[in-house]
Amino acid sequence: LKGQTALANGQKPNALLSAPFALGSSEAQAVASIRKHGPLSRTEIADVTGYSRSKITSVINTLTHLGVLEEIGDGESNGGRRPRVLNFCPEFGYLVGVDMGATSLDVALTNFNGQIIYRLSHVIDVRQGPEVVLSLLRDLVLETLTQLGIQASKIYAFGIGVPGPVEFSTGLLIAPPIMPRWEAFPIRTFIQETFPCAIVVVDNDVNVMALGELRAGSGNNHENFIFVKVGTGIGAGIVCNGQIYRGSNGCAGDIGHICADRNGPPCHCGNIGCLEAIAAGPTIAKRAMEAARNDPDTVLAKFMDEQNGKLTAHDVGRAAMEGDRIANEIIRESGRMIGEVLAGLVNFYNPSLVLIGGGVSNIGHQFLASIRRGILHRSLPLSTRHLRIDTSPMGADVGVMGAIALALEHVFVVENGHAKYVKP
Ligand SMILES: [Zn+2]
Repeated sequence: LKGQTALANGQKPNALLSAPFALGSSEAQAVASIRKHGPLSRTEIADVTGYSRSKITSVINTLTHLGVLEEIGDGESNGGRRPRVLNFCPEFGYLVGVDMGATSLDVALTNFNGQIIYRLSHVIDVRQGPEVVLSLLRDLVLETLTQLGIQASKIYAFGIGVPGPVEFSTGLLIAPPIMPRWEAFPIRTFIQETFPCAIVVVDNDVNVMALGELRAGSGNNHENFIFVKVGTGIGAGIVCNGQIYRGSNGCAGDIGHICADRNGPPCHCGNIGCLEAIAAGPTIAKRAMEAARNDPDTVLAKFMDEQNGKLTAHDVGRAAMEGDRIANEIIRESGRMIGEVLAGLVNFYNPSLVLIGGGVSNIGHQFLASIRRGILHRSLPLSTRHLRIDTSPMGADVGVMGAIALALEHVFVVENGHAKYVKP
């Protein structure tokens, strides 16, 4: 595997090492078990991995010598002396998680434990193109590092979620509808010019959110679940056997363009009646504005008046809360359409959890209730027996936490084994 730094040959890491770092498969397993369970004693690592005590001793010696792990104090005792607990050395390196939206850039800087040490948000217009947006990202991160006294060469990974279809193996956006000038732009190369030691992993924003739920949210007890983002568009991240399922080209889960009504309105993709054209945020807002124009006595009309003739999906949620009948009807109809499409997915995929996230997901309890009804009404009884359908508990944090998880997953690769990612 070219381009990797062989960490496992005994030298201490220094500022010139660059990620991804190759680990032996035993060391990689120990690293993975602490990532999953948090700080563990040697005995606990041996329990999780199934390795003998003597093997664990040598594995942990290697990892502590390299500076990847450190002892952080005493764990729970089972009667005898309290065992030393191991965790990642926070200063081994740092990671950047980026959640890029059409109009916002959310960035988190974490230490090697994945703990956030700096967080920032910036308004952007993604249509300004990659040079403008990525230069801003670069400058924001550099400024933060200067403030904190951290060198750019200590950034070992960037995880970046973008609002468009990504070919995961190359990290390139392919025909992104809302990011036209980003087509095939080399995001990795751009970032690595300033952060030469970092591996840069780019993925679709919904996959990144699903990963955030899997690692840090309510998905962590579920091996098979679907995360649905409802915002300006509609998309799904699929978790299969505890991993993100991306499909053969990386565009699995693009459920927004499933036909939900053959007599429906045209979609920006060129087809008719796509779920996205019927049930996403802009349509909810458009329907509400039509209704408000037809009936000036409603809460919706009052809100529209106050906002220079404009309404958003969020306003429809507020009007519904105040008892506006039509607002409630619009929300229920949108939820029902989404639920019906999800019923097909539940029948096909048999997940144990469906999580609804994105900007439109919290426009009122009617929305989730209608999605639930739509799914339960149309799914087979066996597939919904243990099915949980809920809104994402992580809310706005899920994108940036998922981006950090993406970065953490790719800092190490398994030497002589099944590398998940190869630096270009
Ligand atoms: Zn479409």
